[in-house]
Amino acid sequence: MSLPRFRPVAAGSPILAMARKAAEHRAAGHEVIDLTLGEPDFAPPDHVIAAAHEALDTRRMGYTPVNGIPPLRAAIREHFARERGLTFADDEIAVGCGAKQVIFNAFLASLEKGDEVVLPAPYWASYPDMVRACGAVPVVVPTALETGFRLDPDVLAAAITPKTRWVVINAPGNPSGAVYSASDLAALAEVIAGHPRILVLSDDIYAPIRFSDTPYASFAAVVPDLADRTLTIDGVSKAYAMTGWRVGWAGGPKDLVTAINAVQSQNATQTSSLSQIAAVAALTGPQDSLPVRAEIYRKRRDAALAVLAESPHLSTAAPDGAFYLFPRIAGRHGDETAMALLEATGVAVVPGSAFGGDDHLRLSFALDEASLVEGCRRIVDFLERA
Ligand code: PLP
Repeated sequence: MSLPRFRPVAAGSPILAMARKAAEHRAAGHEVIDLTLGEPDFAPPDHVIAAAHEALDTRRMGYTPVNGIPPLRAAIREHFARERGLTFADDEIAVGCGAKQVIFNAFLASLEKGDEVVLPAPYWASYPDMVRACGAVPVVVPTALETGFRLDPDVLAAAITPKTRWVVINAPGNPSGAVYSASDLAALAEVIAGHPRILVLSDDIYAPIRFSDTPYASFAAVVPDLADRTLTIDGVSKAYAMTGWRVGWAGGPKDLVTAINAVQSQNATQTSSLSQIAAVAALTGPQDSLPVRAEIYRKRRDAALAVLAESPHLSTAAPDGAFYLFPRIAGRHGDETAMALLEATGVAVVPGSAFGGDDHLRLSFALDEASLVEGCRRIVDFLERA
């Protein structure tokens, strides 16, 4: 019997796989409207680029502390206090190569084989793969389109077992766009409070991209009693259109953050020193681009929803934040629909199965409104013909 050559700990990102298919289709000479990618179509603010140029001129780009340069940790603490109402000490901040790495580090630092992680579906495609890579088990719990894809406290209570280690709350959600009110979070906290082993991952990375004026409710701020069991995640990727710069962070209890930093020290050491300087500029500089961009996303959302609403084959909830639509397609599987759609119309979308919603598609509206509306129009026409 031959031994397997690799331990397949992760399946690889299905979102990137679909984006690659779209690129191949384009390389073969076809016109493509790409609605797959989860990255803003804006540039980082000018003062961020200026700070990076200035930093390069010093020619000093050595290793930094594992948890980032002190001005970055100071800027992150200030940002948490200003934007989320959360106070952290310096040793309660972890920094990594994107929020993705910090989340992965947190799971690696805390999960034992067989532990369970509760993931409300639809979920960001990376969570289950990360959990499995740590030898733990994703426990997927459903939410409903009709109730805005928010996790119901009774559903959460039924999913908890003695092995539950984490509950993941991602708001605004990717791909759902769901946002929780303070009272929604308090109701979930009531369930979690009775289970002292459970940690809460509050992934707030899309918080600045919201479409109502209601102040953002972050789990640890709403439920200070559980702050010592909550890891709050954020980063520059979505808010400041700095995806490739790879700076993300977490604020949480010191013992957990120390364990995360230990993992970080043995995989990437730190995130890029140049990117750290740019992130300081993003967090401490003018913030006026954020509401302007959120308003642009809102307009695009509304334009896309208006087209999709014409189709009797689609049900689409209006997302409260982030830049995705997650329509349900009546009587069809998302995988075959996404492939047929690309072939027939040149519109690339991600099948909902990547996020735990087989009969859905994910459409990103991080692209210009004209292309977005044209893409949605082609989807509607395609479903009418198919
Ligand atoms: N969390 C969610 C919900 C996301 O959608 C993403 C990126 O798509 C991330 C975290 C990771 O972002 P980054 O690693 O670029 O900071």
